[in-house]
Amino acid sequence: MSLEKRKDFLPYGLPCHDGDELKGVTEAIESNWWSRGPKVSEFEEKFASIVGAKYALAVNSCTAALHLALLSHGVGQGDEVITTPYTFCSTVNTIVHTGATPVFADIDPDTGLISPEEIEKKITPKTKGIIPVHYAGQACDMDKINGIAEKNGLFVVEDAAHAVCATYKGTPVGGGHNATAFSFYATKNLSTGEGGMLTSDDEEFISRARVMSLHGMSRNAWNRYSKGGSWRYEVQYAGHKYNMTDIAAALGLAQLDKLDAMQSLREEYAYIYGRAFEGVKGVEPLKISDMGRHAWHLYAIRIKSDELSIGRDEFARIMTEDYNIGISVHFIPVHLHPFYVNNYNTCRGQYPNAEKLFDEELSIPLYPAMTKDDVEYVAKAVREIAAQHAK
Ligand SMILES: *Cc1c(COP(=O)(O)O)cnc(C)c1O
Repeated sequence: MSLEKRKDFLPYGLPCHDGDELKGVTEAIESNWWSRGPKVSEFEEKFASIVGAKYALAVNSCTAALHLALLSHGVGQGDEVITTPYTFCSTVNTIVHTGATPVFADIDPDTGLISPEEIEKKITPKTKGIIPVHYAGQACDMDKINGIAEKNGLFVVEDAAHAVCATYKGTPVGGGHNATAFSFYATKNLSTGEGGMLTSDDEEFISRARVMSLHGMSRNAWNRYSKGGSWRYEVQYAGHKYNMTDIAAALGLAQLDKLDAMQSLREEYAYIYGRAFEGVKGVEPLKISDMGRHAWHLYAIRIKSDELSIGRDEFARIMTEDYNIGISVHFIPVHLHPFYVNNYNTCRGQYPNAEKLFDEELSIPLYPAMTKDDVEYVAKAVREIAAQHAK
């Protein structure tokens, strides 16, 4: 008997909230701190303690956090920074913003994570650093990557946009030595609408980033406008306007209180999917390593066109049009976007593992605002489509 198709559309992603977010935002508005104020400081402290980081700087996006991290490491024209083509464009765009040249290292075909062996091949005398991306919420092989960095005198900045709550060999992502950038975009595991956080164990590194996040000014408004604060400030760099607002931090604080509960649901739902897809011809979840806790930001499956009569695109169309399920694809490899093709002469064929994963990957809904019934419906739909199109 075939699955009864749902009438209402199941969105691909939604934020998760109850009354606490509204209460927090109302408090922030009534406190009259509408820009950076005490709630941002409280959010920085609480977030740092959750990921085990010594210092944290709250900003208005993960993109800003990545850009500030590169600037604080002194990256500029003439430098090269190695990263994965299998990421959101902003990871690579921020390298371009500093004037440095992005250099791609292909991914491990099973996990979608940047390959340490490929990183090593790309090191030149101009290389300054590496940006690994914890794709889908699973940590990269950080022992190997940190080892390569140490041997070659390079910095590592971790793109942890997907990896709030992920761990690597017992250490939370963000709690180690490397500067780490988190995203609080609307669909990420913890959201402030728009927002991000940069963590580090290096006080001077974070101070430089903090100054550059607010026009390059030596004092922030929080200090200037509080009683006893001075009106005097100095511009030390032509900085940026990347600070978080107290209204956003209020959302973040409310979300931090339910982070564990939200992550447990992600884990439970990922487990249901994993069980449902065992042995299903033509559908293969990405490989999970045993090196840590997965943050389950994405549930990524491969649609194997050699085992089915349809490819990923048709599979995705059926999911959305026939079964009323929102889907996504993560990612269009960055080297295939026109800006990179036109300015860096990149083309198809250069990073075959990233290109193959892109051709096959389908992200199915996974978020705590879904019900267990929603998850079971999606799992059944995937199994049914695969069965109906098995070769
Ligand atoms: C979402 C995302 C970003 C950018 O995050 P913003 O907060 O929207 O700037 C960076 N890297 C990856 C891998 C992402 O998924």
